[in-house]
Amino acid sequence: MKYFIKTFGCYANEVDSDVMAGILNSLGFSELKLPKLRNETEEVKHILENADLFIVNTCSVRQKSEDKVYGVVRMLKRNEGKKALTILAGCMVGSAKGDRKRYKLSSVKEKAKGFDFYIGPNDIYSLPSILLDSGLIETLEGFDSSSAQRRQVDKNHAYINVSYGCDNFCSYCVVSYSRGKEVTRSEKEILEEIKCLVNLGVSEITLCGQNVNSWGLDRATKFKLRSGGNQKLPFVSLLKKVHKVKGVKKIDFMSSNPFDFTKDLVEVLKLPKVSNYFHIAVQSGNNAVLKAMRRRHTIEEFLSLVEEIRKVRPDAEFGTDAIVGFSGETEEQFMDTVELFKKARFSVAFISMYSEREGTYAQKNLKDNVSLEEKKWRHGYLTKVWKKYKP
Ligand code: SF4
Repeated sequence: MKYFIKTFGCYANEVDSDVMAGILNSLGFSELKLPKLRNETEEVKHILENADLFIVNTCSVRQKSEDKVYGVVRMLKRNEGKKALTILAGCMVGSAKGDRKRYKLSSVKEKAKGFDFYIGPNDIYSLPSILLDSGLIETLEGFDSSSAQRRQVDKNHAYINVSYGCDNFCSYCVVSYSRGKEVTRSEKEILEEIKCLVNLGVSEITLCGQNVNSWGLDRATKFKLRSGGNQKLPFVSLLKKVHKVKGVKKIDFMSSNPFDFTKDLVEVLKLPKVSNYFHIAVQSGNNAVLKAMRRRHTIEEFLSLVEEIRKVRPDAEFGTDAIVGFSGETEEQFMDTVELFKKARFSVAFISMYSEREGTYAQKNLKDNVSLEEKKWRHGYLTKVWKKYKP
């Protein structure tokens, strides 16, 4: 039995796809290897005709990400030689399930017609029972999906989830809906997974979560944290324990936000195995825009954080995410983001044009009033400035 997983979006989806692939490998499936094909149409046609199972793991962070999935849907409709069982997975479906859903599942099924099953990021462990119900496998006797070894794409490096979901509800973002509430994995489980990966030859790890800084904290405590504050973070103690694992040579972590990047987290960055690259999402260079985005940091706090990190890690390199053309962003406010980019000198920047997402606070309460033409201009201009000032 052959499977193919097409993955859109961020590292969280990559990890989910690796988990699903691991489950499928343990069930006796093997991955369909694609021959050289000319384009995506040929690729999807080949998968539908040759795989027994085709999973499309979707992203809904931006309209552009969803549009890519609709392209696959159109090909699905056209293909008559279809053999594969098809599953639509990921954030597009997650946003239509659970108590934080943004829209009805029927609307996803209407827009992305033709799939046999629809599963969200929190349903990936139900994959074996779906395969059983659909007749692709005959039994699950003796199978335990939690002990299935995740697909290892890179032999030296692995992403380790330390938490799932997000409780921050930034006003433009779908993740708090599509991936649900923030759940922390136990320290024991995380360390065991790391040791197991080290035994397989992995030496570089990235600890992942939508907001790793708040790992192990209850909701009330994490909302009291401030950038540069004195509170002690459980994540710092986790980092120290991971640092002690024999065989681990390099530790990265993502995503980090400025608002709960406390002093003790800055201090721990000195540890020699901690990588010198820090990805901290700033989103805008203007305080009023940050407030409208429901971010809990100011630009002054962000710049002071960058400075403090540079003091403990003179070799520090920074990456960030920024949105241009957010609802109500004036040209003057945009220029504050430009100034911020000049001061912070980011090595990596993911700059995106704001796109309204159904069901979010911004979509319901703020006007998406910056024209597409203006957003494109701001995107191009900020990209140029970023490239000019990057170290
Ligand atoms: S911190 Fe904000 S931007 Fe990041 S995933 Fe959570 S809600 Fe989205």
